[in-house]
Amino acid sequence: MRQVIIIGSGPAGFTAAIYAARANLKPLLVASTVEVGGELMNTTEVENFPGFPDGIQGPDLMAKMQQQAERFGTEVLYDDVVSLDVDGTVKKVTLGSGAAHEASTIIYATGSAYRKLGVEGEERLSGYGVSWCATCDGFFFREKTIAVVGGGDSAMEEATFLTRFASKVYVIHRKDTLRASKIMQERAFANEKIEFIWNTEVEEVLGGDSVNGVRLRSTTDGSTRELALDGLFIAIGNDPRTHLVHGKLELTSEGTIWVDGRSSRTSVPGVFAAGDVIDPTYRQAATAAGSGVVAALDAEHFLADLEDASVEVPAAEAAEIIAR
Ligand code: NDP
Repeated sequence: MRQVIIIGSGPAGFTAAIYAARANLKPLLVASTVEVGGELMNTTEVENFPGFPDGIQGPDLMAKMQQQAERFGTEVLYDDVVSLDVDGTVKKVTLGSGAAHEASTIIYATGSAYRKLGVEGEERLSGYGVSWCATCDGFFFREKTIAVVGGGDSAMEEATFLTRFASKVYVIHRKDTLRASKIMQERAFANEKIEFIWNTEVEEVLGGDSVNGVRLRSTTDGSTRELALDGLFIAIGNDPRTHLVHGKLELTSEGTIWVDGRSSRTSVPGVFAAGDVIDPTYRQAATAAGSGVVAALDAEHFLADLEDASVEVPAAEAAEIIAR
């Protein structure tokens, strides 16, 4: 049986692994089969992670975190968790391969998933002009006309990045002000390939085999119109990935996993959570990394308390025997 199993391979998971491995807990980290490294694998330049004054590419940062975790003895498994049994003192993690692993503690750091618009044509044309990842798919839109939906930092980052390829990038936003940080807004406003379409929602993605446009609806007067496009990038935020723990761990009203104050302790003893899956607000690589530290330290203390308790039982029994 393991002492710690970490689920998730983003900054929270790998940072928890670095700390747990350095505490000699020999963690097993389940990294998934699809998105090892988490969301930063879809990012280009990361300019705000401390320690990299010239910036670093997202995938490079994640590779370094993994190297650092493995250097201290983390075992990384490229598999998906399909079910979790968190009742009792022995936690069980079952993987897609059929293998099952047991541990005294679990650190749950599964991050969040791209949010969908939920409109007609979105699902059908996913991969055929509809994308959630500019870094992955931007290259396919050389000299094309595309649009990005959203008004946050992701949308600004994607739109700015996509101007490297596309001849024209619309940003479609449902309000008349952006949620994005000032620096990201200014960068997008200054880019002459970017045009903002304000107070507008996408009502339908149009196209047969691939995207050829969208039907837009004004959020002010409800009027609709069509806009010809070769591609649509959706950057409207993320939802915490909690499907494995529904009914097992308490969630907040925002859908993140509930944790006790500033700790990583969930509603189930021995299960700790870290990163975007507990954070509806900040959701930065650096905050996720910090949150991974908290989880590893909490798990370490929990394990130390378990050990103390197991030592204390015989001592208590001995005292009872002496009293008799
Ligand atoms: P946000 O939640 O910040 O923004 C989502 C945007 O999408 C909002 O403008 C929102 O509109 C809009 N939106 C949400 N749902 C819909 C919908 N159904 N239809 C149309 N529009 C919708 O998410 P982000 O992914 O942009 O950012 C998440 C976090 O990650 C933030 O903390 C951000 O700062 C950070 N981040 C930082 C980056 C960096 O610093 N380099 C890069 C990318 C992200 P509305 O405003 O009306 O709510």
